[in-house]
Amino acid sequence: MGDTGQFAEIIVDISARSVDRVFHYAVPADLKDRVKPGARVLVPFGARRLAGYVLGFGYPERNIRVREIAGVLDDEPVLTEDLLEIARWMADSYLCTTAEAFARIIAPRLGVKATRAVKLLKPAFPARKSQEVLNRLKHAPKQAAVLRQALLNQSLTRKELAAAAQTSPATVDALVKAGLLEAEILHASNYQEENRIVHSSGGVTPLNADQVKAAREISQALTEGKFGVFLLYGVTGSGKTEVYLDAIASALAAGRQAVAMVPEISLTPQMIGLFRARFGSLVAVLHSGLAGRERYEEWRRVKKNQAPVVLGTRSAVFAPLSAPGLFILDEEHEPSYKQDDHLRYHAREVAIKRAQLSGAAVVLGSATPSLESWFKAGCSGPYQLLKLPHRIDKKPLPQVTVVDIRQELKDGNRGIFSRRLVAAIYDRLQKGEQTILFLNRRGYANFIICRECGHVIKCDHCDISLTYHLDGTLRCHYCNYSARLPSVCPCCGSVYIRPFGAGTQKVEDEAARLFPAARILRMDSDSTARKGSHEKIINAFRQGEADILIGTQMIAKGLDLPMVTLVGVINADTTLFMPDFRASERTFQLLTQVAGRSGRGKLPGEVLVQTYSPDHYSIAAAARHDVEGFYRIELPLRKSLGYPPFSFLVRMLFTHADEAEISKGALLAKEILDKILAGHDNLIEALGPAPAPLGRIKGRFRWQIVIKGRRRSELRDIIRQCLDDLQKLRPSFKPAINIDINPQGMQ
Ligand code: ADP
Ligand code: ZN
Ligand code: ZN
Repeated sequence: MGDTGQFAEIIVDISARSVDRVFHYAVPADLKDRVKPGARVLVPFGARRLAGYVLGFGYPERNIRVREIAGVLDDEPVLTEDLLEIARWMADSYLCTTAEAFARIIAPRLGVKATRAVKLLKPAFPARKSQEVLNRLKHAPKQAAVLRQALLNQSLTRKELAAAAQTSPATVDALVKAGLLEAEILHASNYQEENRIVHSSGGVTPLNADQVKAAREISQALTEGKFGVFLLYGVTGSGKTEVYLDAIASALAAGRQAVAMVPEISLTPQMIGLFRARFGSLVAVLHSGLAGRERYEEWRRVKKNQAPVVLGTRSAVFAPLSAPGLFILDEEHEPSYKQDDHLRYHAREVAIKRAQLSGAAVVLGSATPSLESWFKAGCSGPYQLLKLPHRIDKKPLPQVTVVDIRQELKDGNRGIFSRRLVAAIYDRLQKGEQTILFLNRRGYANFIICRECGHVIKCDHCDISLTYHLDGTLRCHYCNYSARLPSVCPCCGSVYIRPFGAGTQKVEDEAARLFPAARILRMDSDSTARKGSHEKIINAFRQGEADILIGTQMIAKGLDLPMVTLVGVINADTTLFMPDFRASERTFQLLTQVAGRSGRGKLPGEVLVQTYSPDHYSIAAAARHDVEGFYRIELPLRKSLGYPPFSFLVRMLFTHADEAEISKGALLAKEILDKILAGHDNLIEALGPAPAPLGRIKGRFRWQIVIKGRRRSELRDIIRQCLDDLQKLRPSFKPAINIDINPQGMQ
């Protein structure tokens, strides 16, 4: 610490906007060695003692009396220098406080102290005595239950054991006291081996010409240590993963670290296998599905640079790397890269910012890039486009057929399955091949569709499907336009015009009725709520234990299932008419991805897409495998309606338990916004307030204002001013406000 090192500059861990600034504290002599940038400390603040984050050193502006740091919380700094910068950037970009950003960044560490060892309890008698011991406990059923759990799983803590046996920790203590359970102290446990599907051929696959070309561009950037963003656009099955692995090897060769992210935890086991086969113990896995101690252990291995390759979900973007060289986002278009709680960061944006700070490369991989990324990879940059135009071994893409279900109705078939789909499934059953039936998550909003002509009622101003409410009204969630539900279709006059919806359970029931001999598995959020059951279902299906797999989004992504030769999309319209400007894009991406699940083995694949809108361009383009054709239509449409990537959107979400309070509050916020906007050019638009598509969650009503403008920084300034004015005008403002910059969905 030099001359300017007299005072530590600290962000105090308190999430109030009014104190979101640097405070100066003196460093006591005995803490000098441990108070470093990125360290967490304990400081007096008013009458309290709070945690704080050390940013650096300097002097306070005026010669005020500074207080002393009371203690240091960690043995070594938990944050790297670039993460300090990232926290400040997040506060600015996402309108949160710096303390909130820090809390988000270090979240994977929370709950486990550096020095804490884990105490696991296991039976203190040999397994052959189990029955005898359990018999002795006949009159203590709770203790017997605990013991049974301990016999099943020997890696549970006292609390976990009590929870597993649905009793209190005191029961567990009683068993320890009786000498029936004993403790084992564990300092470090690795991610459990049995959770993984190992899936590797071993060794390095020689790349094909397209892969080599893409990998060379990335490795060149890595050697030069230059910041750059690459959009790796490769059709499904084109071998993007091998390019990632090669890029990671280049990063390691350059002495840098790499982070690879996948959109969902369920996809990590497959990737872990590939990564471990190539990089062995250099791989650390970071995601929220790991138990606290595993997560901490992996985090520590990254921090110590024992594991320079990090594989994880979006939060892995905050991995504590000393020399980040590469950030990979597989399936970069997936909305799950956006955090959807109060601090709504996007992992792609954070990765690009971190890469900028450290001269690293970012690789965004997808068969169906987000419109934003595609636009930025256009001829004028700033991203560089890398293409993998062919499937490995020139395997053909599956044949996609669109089935018009309006015709089914006309022909008297009122079921979920078209005749064509029934015939195709029957054919697979006879051949012993597998079928996937895909159903989009049941729409959170009901739109109105005409069963005869497929017409959907939309808002004239926003081109968004109107949502049906139980009081019989139709409403636009962007601008709050409302209308009555018509009694006949405004397009064809049919009376078959009504809300839309079907669930996986219904599909399963009907499939069971139509194909009584078929073995059917269902996978949705209900059936996979238990940890690991997702992998169990996939493994069972992979091993041929079922003929038909029915599922939601979860089965659309990244899985390599060679025996699947038929994919049926039960209804493409659920996504197509979500009340969201990205509805067409999401539909196209989903269909393309679902199609990619078929025909990955030696047998050719077929895809059947059932829809009321067979002529819609996103369905037609997906059926033709025409990715670029889709963008050619979608981009100008977005432009004409002023939606991203030609503008920025911000959603202000207001929530409150009292309905009157929330509409009043949202209206007041809108008035303030209108006043601010009156002083601006008219390129910024504030829509609403309107109830959100999910109008009420857990007893809290939800309203939103959507703001649209050309420049992100300008929008941020306006919202900041709106929040400040609200605070001044109405200090007792009741609804909670959540700001979502560039929302990925607006439920
Ligand atoms: P994508 O992620 O682009 O959909 P994958 O990375 O899953 O594609 O690759 C598809 C299949 O092709 C995988 O089974 C992979 O092992 C195989 N593969 C990838 N590259 C090659 C190569 N150069 N030679 C042979 N097989 C390859
Ligand atoms: Zn109609
Ligand atoms: Zn509207």
